[in-house]
Amino acid sequence: MPEFVTFSRNVFIPVTNICRNHCGYCTFRRDAGHPEARLMNISEIRQILEKGEKAGCTEALFVFGEYAEEVPEYLLELEKLGYSSTVEYVADLCELAIEIGLLPHTNAGILTQHELEILKPLNISMGLMLETTAELKAHSESPGKAPSTRIEMIRTAGKLQIPFTTGILVGIGETKADRKRSLNVIADMHREFGHIQEVIIQNFMPKPDTPMADHAPPSKEEMIETVSIAREILPDDVAVQVAPNLIDPYILIKAGASDLGGVSPTTIDWINPEAEWPDVIELQRMTKEIELRERLPIYPQHIKKGWYSSNLSDLIETLTDKNGFKRKQQ
Ligand code: SF4
Repeated sequence: MPEFVTFSRNVFIPVTNICRNHCGYCTFRRDAGHPEARLMNISEIRQILEKGEKAGCTEALFVFGEYAEEVPEYLLELEKLGYSSTVEYVADLCELAIEIGLLPHTNAGILTQHELEILKPLNISMGLMLETTAELKAHSESPGKAPSTRIEMIRTAGKLQIPFTTGILVGIGETKADRKRSLNVIADMHREFGHIQEVIIQNFMPKPDTPMADHAPPSKEEMIETVSIAREILPDDVAVQVAPNLIDPYILIKAGASDLGGVSPTTIDWINPEAEWPDVIELQRMTKEIELRERLPIYPQHIKKGWYSSNLSDLIETLTDKNGFKRKQQ
């Protein structure tokens, strides 16, 4: 068993739920024109950031549907906010988060090298789930889920030295061999570029009113096996992350998980809104005798390597202890 497991405190900001993809399990996306389709404005986002900062969060997690710009109605809404591209808007949101005292982490789906270059100096880390290297029915209407496209973006983030989160989604129709292949691809990218901080092993959860509503979720045994395979395949400096609001983390820590991802005291998990985040006391109860250690959305090894821009250095200095974890509040 590990001596400790890590987690971070974040605010989850679903900036837009308009998305060009149609994944078979998704309840997050909305079509333009749907009453729940949204593009959040700056004042709504400012309120969330300020509340999170007061609650002790260190991470502003900005989440987007992918390339909503392909949807004309979205572009019109963006223009009303004064922006001509999503990346321009994200850059301003990141600056706002930094001003308020939170470290931005953006997951906006597929981004080009040019877009990553714009966002790198304003993000402490970024993310994109690989999900799987297999071609699956779940992704048949999702051009952005083509494995080669996702691998290319994760590689580009590596070339740019962006501390990075990725992961696999378990139980969406892939085989055990597919899972191993996906994890090996991630491990190889990390060996080449050294940028992967954590790999999420996320269990698929069937949701009502989706094409995969009747598709069985992975069993507890499959999850234990996948976490243990991940631990074997991934280099030692890459954390295996599991989501404590989706599955009992203790059995997975025993199998090799070492990180519990971001939990939020002030916002919900917009991807799995039915699954409440545990608070820190509950998290410690779940992990039993294993110490919980709070980290930032950048891991100690990347702080040590100086993989962050001068825009973020004051915040890093204020928020970290001498080992690169979150400084304890006085
Ligand atoms: S890319 Fe993300 S938001 Fe878009 S449909 Fe797939 S899971 Fe949903």
